[in-house]
Amino acid sequence: ERLTNQAANPDDKMLELSLRPQYLNQYIGQHKVKDELSIYIQAAKKRQESLDHVLLYGPPGLGKTTLAFVIANELEVKLRSTTGPAIEKAGDLVALLTELNPGDVLFIDEIHRLPKTVEEVLYSAMEDFYIDIIIGQGEGTHSVHIPLPPFTLIGATTRAGQLSAPLRDRFGIIEHMNYYEEEDLQHIIERSSLVFDSKIKEEAAHELSKRSRGTPRISNRLLKRVRDFAEVKEEEEISLETTQQALAQLEVDDAGLDQVDRKLLMMMIETYQGGPVGIKTLAANIGEDQETVETIYEPYLLQKEFIKRTPRGRAVTPKAYAHLGIKMMEN
Ligand code: ADP
Repeated sequence: ERLTNQAANPDDKMLELSLRPQYLNQYIGQHKVKDELSIYIQAAKKRQESLDHVLLYGPPGLGKTTLAFVIANELEVKLRSTTGPAIEKAGDLVALLTELNPGDVLFIDEIHRLPKTVEEVLYSAMEDFYIDIIIGQGEGTHSVHIPLPPFTLIGATTRAGQLSAPLRDRFGIIEHMNYYEEEDLQHIIERSSLVFDSKIKEEAAHELSKRSRGTPRISNRLLKRVRDFAEVKEEEEISLETTQQALAQLEVDDAGLDQVDRKLLMMMIETYQGGPVGIKTLAANIGEDQETVETIYEPYLLQKEFIKRTPRGRAVTPKAYAHLGIKMMEN
């Protein structure tokens, strides 16, 4: 099993639902984002208006989808969920929007992948709650004006830079999701283990939190695997030892790097003398697509200071050489 960030498979759906916090006070970490949203939500409710449109951006698995549902719960409205690539035509968007009740939330995940033609229709919907669509061809062409209920668009993206300026400008609330602090991840792991109906020792939860790439989705995934190891060993409470064993088996090291991270660093060192190397070349060399490298591997390696950005590409840092136990060559 890959330890990266793909969404859970459908079998896990029920568990996934129970793992997701429902309200802001159950949503762990991201304190700044939560504090700000809490104010905006309270204000919108007091004024009995729809909440301004919200853009959530940051690496996958940090809780953007979860937060969108939390926001809708706090607003006491319904949420309709879709993704950018799923809305193929302007008509699809019209269908989604006209179904909403006043104040409802439309959540669009991967909003950077919305087709351009749909995006343009979204502008007036977001700004003034109407859509004009052109119907017919040639002589018979006419435009139809469709008023919409006031609604809140919540967009999520791993790549804010890929959003066009006109779309970005129409979000009144823009929140950047950061990697989680270890303390918050530990809390999430302890909560998840209650959901799984299993016990975990504090030091084991702490170990897992250090190795989760700052990402709750990865915490939960690792916890599931560690729990399997404990199960087989008939351990009552997941121990630190079992956690370490399981993580070693899964090839997740003490810095939370997995095989792909290490492969990437080793390739940069062995083939490119530590870099700088362009992102395209990096991706091609390890057989991953560029988007995966840019959204999953690079941000974590940057935040860990194992690589740095230079004008000519990414370069391996002395810290990474030390972590991998490799002597740096003099340039
Ligand atoms: P994203 O949409 O950013 O990719 P998700 O919202 O799907 O991330 O979150 C991934 C998983 O991590 C969810 O199953 C959820 O249970 C868990 N999770 C995310 N954020 C939190 C949080 N703040 N507290 C508890 N669990 C969280």
